[in-house]
Amino acid sequence: MIRTLGLGLPRLGPHLEYKGLLEGFWGGSLPREAFLEGLEELEGLRLAAYRQEVDLYPLGEVSLYDPMLDLAVALGLYPVLPGDLEAYYALARGKGALPLRKWFGTNYHYLVPRLPEQPRYRPQPGWFPYPVGRGADAGRPQGARGLSLTEGLPTLIGPYTLVRLAQNPPASPRELQAHLEALGEAYAELLRPVGRPVLLQEPALILDGAGEDLPHLLGLYRLLGAQAPLVLLTYYLPLRPQVAQALADLPLRGLGLVYPPEGSLPRVSPGTALVLGVVEGLSPWRTDLLGLARSLDPLVEAGHEVWLAPKAPLYHLPWEVAEPLPPGLAGRLAFAKERLRELALLKRALRGESREEAQAWHTPPPAWGRGLPPPPPPRPPREARRQAQVDLNLPPFPTTTIGSFPQTKELRALRKRRRSGDLDQATYWREIQKIIQENIRLQEELGLDVLVHGEPERSDMVEFFAERMEGFHTTHKGFVLSYGSRVWRPPILFAPPRRREPLVLRETLYAQSLTPKPVKAILTGPVTLAAWSYLPQGVGLGEAILALAEALREEVREVAAQGIRVVQVDEPALLEKLPLRAEERPGYLARVGEAFSRVVGDLAPGVQVHLHLCYSDYAALRPFLEAMDPDVVSLEGARQDPGFLEALADLPLDLGPGAFDVHSPLEAPAEEMLSRLEGYLVHLPPERLWVNPDCGLKTRKPEEAIANLRHMVEAARRLRQSVGGRHADGT
Ligand code: GLN
Ligand code: ZN
Repeated sequence: MIRTLGLGLPRLGPHLEYKGLLEGFWGGSLPREAFLEGLEELEGLRLAAYRQEVDLYPLGEVSLYDPMLDLAVALGLYPVLPGDLEAYYALARGKGALPLRKWFGTNYHYLVPRLPEQPRYRPQPGWFPYPVGRGADAGRPQGARGLSLTEGLPTLIGPYTLVRLAQNPPASPRELQAHLEALGEAYAELLRPVGRPVLLQEPALILDGAGEDLPHLLGLYRLLGAQAPLVLLTYYLPLRPQVAQALADLPLRGLGLVYPPEGSLPRVSPGTALVLGVVEGLSPWRTDLLGLARSLDPLVEAGHEVWLAPKAPLYHLPWEVAEPLPPGLAGRLAFAKERLRELALLKRALRGESREEAQAWHTPPPAWGRGLPPPPPPRPPREARRQAQVDLNLPPFPTTTIGSFPQTKELRALRKRRRSGDLDQATYWREIQKIIQENIRLQEELGLDVLVHGEPERSDMVEFFAERMEGFHTTHKGFVLSYGSRVWRPPILFAPPRRREPLVLRETLYAQSLTPKPVKAILTGPVTLAAWSYLPQGVGLGEAILALAEALREEVREVAAQGIRVVQVDEPALLEKLPLRAEERPGYLARVGEAFSRVVGDLAPGVQVHLHLCYSDYAALRPFLEAMDPDVVSLEGARQDPGFLEALADLPLDLGPGAFDVHSPLEAPAEEMLSRLEGYLVHLPPERLWVNPDCGLKTRKPEEAIANLRHMVEAARRLRQSVGGRHADGT
């Protein structure tokens, strides 16, 4: 018996309906009733799309903001009564909102709930099974025990994923046990009245450590399985074999795991469907359905009940392939809707019905293999570089910014007009030059030491580079949800990347021509370019990172050849791509180190290399900083206890941990910044401290940015008076 199961069809909808509804409601233009009706309609449209292609599909995926928050309120972690949208959205985006964190190394951010100090949960059945979408599946057949042919199944994130991903995961097996016991009762109360199979999503079961935690979980799943037939779904990576087998011994209605498995497939009990993640959810390439059908044939012939599913929820892909594609890409992509079609096609192929169609669906990717030139030798030691950089003439506590200046409405309108062809290149460039002039003048007036051009030409730090490189395709409408109503368009890397035109050269040189002070060339690094793009079929992250590094290397050489003395590489995605599996981390570290060296290793010792990271997880960062060996690192520290610097204090780097928080619109007085900087100096010798905001200023209003930069320069001035620090000759 073969069925197909969809998962995660983007709640964004085919035309960003979700974004429109949320923003309309928040902005006050959409009254509550119309908003909820709109969500119902969207759910109806999604379910219809599911039904067109697959047999089984989840109900209740149209979250009001984020499924993790839905779960938190359904379990009573926060006092939010069902239907109280105000209280719900206060947790999502108000003052005191829950923190956001990236979900399983993807670019989707979930709201991170806090577990109660005492393991006590107060389930709120009104929030489950249908926060919205109650009516959308009405009148459909429902099977209490068996399953009808097309059916919606309520879905919920499972208790293990909640505890592993919480702000405060249980610190000991005893605590874990206590929370899981309490959660067992709470989930049971939610599941009991449902009366049909439930899709319990437990992606955390793929994580390292799940094997050790498993003994605490098996009893819980048994208990829940007694309330409602349970389909336990895992995705993103294959389960470890011993975890898979232990779960397979449970009386589940279905066990979901990524195929092919690590090792062999677990033996499931009769009555349990093997739910196999067979088509990609994170990557946009069509699946080799014929190859897959051949590998699954024996399983089907043996009479197993198999459900075909995606390897990841489909909301990491755009809704559907809906725009013309360039020659190298046409006929090769599958977004979310096409993934559902793939499942249907595969099912038919497994029944022997349409093998030819399955074969025609997929063409093998063109060979990638462009050999890379050898990496450059390591740069000379830091001390030699410091000496070679003395003529930059930086004062003690040098001041700089991270790159972007406020992106005003006018600026966005300008770029839009260029995009639509409304504005010719020459006029556009003159406008950009004007903004660069203003930015340079402002920085000189404020008294900053290392200047930036302000990045007015960049809409997005990845898409902008992708558009100037060969090998990338950027879409117009290929939007994916990032969090809340925020969307982005991942570029698609499909051929070896190469710079087609200068990336940052023109703007940087123009800015440098306006000032005697050093201007920093700012590039998005290879890890971040790879992390926030779709990668070519069959090309691993490490390989892509190295190829992107080579493309940037050309640009960096050129920039330095033209006299630029400071180069900054932005790698905000560095830690988020840290592999989920511990055994893959050393390889990743090596690749990242090599890539950074390829980008900046050709530079003469007199060129100062900055690395910008948005993180403050210093223990995790340390090995990367050692491997990358930049001259200066700027990071996000303005909201942390400065004690974190201890972990890095002995590295031969200058550090700019952040004098103020760019995410806040509040004005930070010079005194406040001064005391923060003094806090850093408890852990860091004065000659190694830089003074900068903790990230780019693009989301701030001009007056907010200017006020805080003024205070920042003032704080550095006072620090020079009181502490002294490095001499102008760098000794
Ligand atoms: N240079 C970029 C900026 O200032 C860096 C952004 C980032 O690290 N996220 O906007
Ligand atoms: Zn940043």
